[in-house]
Amino acid sequence: MFSPLNMNPARVSRYSAKRHVHMSIRIFLALIASIFVGSAIQMKGASKPNIVMIFVDDLGYGDLGVYGNPTIRTPHLDRMAQEGMRFTDFYSAASVCTPSRAGLLTGRYPVRSGMCSDRRRVLFPNSKGGLPASEWTMAEAIKGQGYATAAVGKWHLGHLPQFLPTSHGFDSYFGIPYSNDMDLLPGSPGGAARSLEPEVEWWNVPLMRDEKVVERPADQTTITRRYTQEAVTFIKSNQEKPFFLYLAHSLPHVPLFRSPQFENKSLRGLFGDVVEEVDWSVGQVLNTLRETGLDQHTLVFFTSDNGPWLTQGPAGGTAGLLHEGKGSTWEGGMREPAIAWWPGKIKAGGITSELASTLDLFPTFARLSGIPESEITQKDGYDLASVLFENGRSARPHFAFYRGTRIFALRMGAYKAHYLTKSAYGRDPVVEHENPLIFNLLHDPSERFDIAGQRPELVKAFENLRTHYLNEVEVVPSQLEIVD
Ligand code: MG
Repeated sequence: MFSPLNMNPARVSRYSAKRHVHMSIRIFLALIASIFVGSAIQMKGASKPNIVMIFVDDLGYGDLGVYGNPTIRTPHLDRMAQEGMRFTDFYSAASVCTPSRAGLLTGRYPVRSGMCSDRRRVLFPNSKGGLPASEWTMAEAIKGQGYATAAVGKWHLGHLPQFLPTSHGFDSYFGIPYSNDMDLLPGSPGGAARSLEPEVEWWNVPLMRDEKVVERPADQTTITRRYTQEAVTFIKSNQEKPFFLYLAHSLPHVPLFRSPQFENKSLRGLFGDVVEEVDWSVGQVLNTLRETGLDQHTLVFFTSDNGPWLTQGPAGGTAGLLHEGKGSTWEGGMREPAIAWWPGKIKAGGITSELASTLDLFPTFARLSGIPESEITQKDGYDLASVLFENGRSARPHFAFYRGTRIFALRMGAYKAHYLTKSAYGRDPVVEHENPLIFNLLHDPSERFDIAGQRPELVKAFENLRTHYLNEVEVVPSQLEIVD
């Protein structure tokens, strides 16, 4: 075996001298290389993280493989959860589209911005209102920190020019500005279409690029694919500067459409095909981040705007073990699948049952983009950094379940109190519970066993909390009631 140890002393000495010179050169070169590589890493590390917010429409708590669906296959979201963190107790800001989106983008309960109503629950094509210019959106906040910003997909915060994404902090917009079931054309099967294989031409929904309609009716069969392409292109073209991407899929909101590649693929039928294409889309986004080397430098957050649309029958999703769905303040209406992913920063495989909400994403993203805590004036959100990055406790002590402008329920720690209940869409009256129904959601996520009678101190604590909300959260005039 060749080794300096079996050489004679003179040769060893010459060898050592030569070796030292070689080693010195190698060390010198390595040093130079490390300075370059180090500074490149440092530059990347020192620059602000990218943020990708994926928001899907009407996906229920029980509609993903990783959340227990038996027949909808979601390998990309399952992997995202394995590599990231999955929430069990994460709430949208409302149980229907418009107020939920207003809550996400402003970090404030939608009553504060007028983006809810007791008469018209969402914006419609004849609406003249929208998210007021006075609102400070997540996109404006992040853009102010030097980020490129893009909105792709459903907006539903006002389709008139002054309310569109490009008026609210996004550099660009591509998508259907409201729900994909609006603009139903006369003579179309309408409601019945929702449980059939629908046709694109039954709805006259516009597809917009920035402020212009570029296609009408939008070809919804390729909409998930095209949103995905748009998202991938945005990521690839912004590798050199920090970016914020808001990717809000129009689906799986009814009517259900998917591209030919996903037709009749899912064991769950049409709804499954659609969710599986959305899952594919998530995979495309994550793979693009991996391929560009941005994965260790990007926070991706996935959740849904509200629970499953149960009144659509098999065309709607499922809330799994949770009671009720979209439109309701029972758990199924507002508790959502939620997955956070940031390799190297979020510990892989974490599951948290900390209380959190879409309202918390504004302060979380704003802090990551470099805004000092003192400048974040959004009162309803709590920075999730300790939950995400330290597996720590949530700073959120409680959460209010509004239906329109009214508080229907409150959550505090493990407990939830219902003051008002009503079916999601029925004509039944609102039931007022003089003695609230109280459930321990950690023991009883399906809200079956009312414990109010055994816990008078909880009844009192919730009453104080309700007074706090009634005093602190101002209800302003509704934007949703401004029509033609
Ligand atoms: Mg929705």
